[in-house]
Amino acid sequence: MAKIIRGFKDTFGKQAENLTKLENCARKVFARYGVEELRIPTVELKELFIKSTGDTTDIVQKEMYAFEDAGSRNIALRPEGTPGVVRAYIENGFAQNNPLKSFFYIGNMFRAERPQAGRYREFEQIGVECFGNASPAQDAQTILMLKDIIESLGIKNYKVKINSLGCAECRPAFRQELINYFSASKDQLCDKCKDRLERNPLRVLDCKIDGPKFTNVPKQKLCPSCQEHFDEVINLLKGKIDFEIDPMLVRGLDYYTKTVFEFVAGTNAQNAIAGGGRYDTLVKSMGGPACPAIGWALGAQRVASVLEEQNAQEEKNTRENKFFVISMDKTCNQTAFNLMQNLRQAGFITLGGIFDKNIKAQMKQADKNNCRWALIIGTTEVEKGSVVLKDLTNAEQKEFLQSEIISVLKKVQNEKN
Ligand code: AMP
Repeated sequence: MAKIIRGFKDTFGKQAENLTKLENCARKVFARYGVEELRIPTVELKELFIKSTGDTTDIVQKEMYAFEDAGSRNIALRPEGTPGVVRAYIENGFAQNNPLKSFFYIGNMFRAERPQAGRYREFEQIGVECFGNASPAQDAQTILMLKDIIESLGIKNYKVKINSLGCAECRPAFRQELINYFSASKDQLCDKCKDRLERNPLRVLDCKIDGPKFTNVPKQKLCPSCQEHFDEVINLLKGKIDFEIDPMLVRGLDYYTKTVFEFVAGTNAQNAIAGGGRYDTLVKSMGGPACPAIGWALGAQRVASVLEEQNAQEEKNTRENKFFVISMDKTCNQTAFNLMQNLRQAGFITLGGIFDKNIKAQMKQADKNNCRWALIIGTTEVEKGSVVLKDLTNAEQKEFLQSEIISVLKKVQNEKN
């Protein structure tokens, strides 16, 4: 039987549905911000990624799907979208003629990473790249664009981290300070960080193993112009989005300058759902004119999984608080009906009232309607003024007085919350 390659995956059902939903939400938000679509090739010359993503990054060093084609060209499957978009921006003359331009892309990226939950070798990114605007207002609106997409999709529990990495003026000193600091305790670093300490010392800060080990890491001292820029970004964002300034946030790519940010959500170990930052020197270093820029990329599968997780949790929460009232005999209908209305008056989600059906059929409906609890009234209960509360997940049941049932249920709910 033919088998899929390790690290790749088929997408169908809810996951496919959520990906489409996300793409549609994103397109609507991009339109509102005046961002146009750009479709770039899946393959580029390998050199493009080495020059832009950076040869000190894991993505380029170890994770590229690179090969020689029939024309002996060294090409690579794109590991990220920014290099292709920047190339297209320069090559199609936008940089010269219409420098203030923002593009979005939706497409699959390829990285030969070690596969695990939330980390695939082919995954979809939705990204945006905004060129030609150095103003802090551009940083703020680019971040808010991402927030709008996440929220219009209905994702509620996400966190935003922001930092500034400084510029060519203030970054080198920080870089050197980090090399000195970590070199002093090199034996405590993980193998990966030992290896990248000289090449990319900032990455040690956001290493999951080493980052938390060091508590007194030197902090970036921004030059006055970077500090002013960062302060203004923060001021513009205040009140529009909840965020936290995280001096340990560095992002994995070489080209970032000034503002960087990351959105995290969900319970997976791989909980970064999107990230990005400013890259004011990249366009020039790739052969274009000096041109400020900022962008982000969102991992579509990760966002879709968070949505799925959240929906499942919400469904579970609703089920927890849903009741179904059952009458076991014609003579019990009046009492059961009164109980049902009393529960609704008290604010409980209450279904039922199909008293012309037999008990089995009523139970079946309770289950079908995703109710966790059945409240059963039979002739004995009418006589005793009681009601049976049955947990449909494990069939356990307990009897309470009808006069007390609402306060009992309220107490249980309060304990849960
Ligand atoms: P990056 O291009 O590394 O900044 O990643 C941007 C976003 O893409 C991340 O926040 C993730 O949500 C997503 N992403 C990165 N690598 C993978 C992967 N191997 N599998 C799935 N999603 C990924």
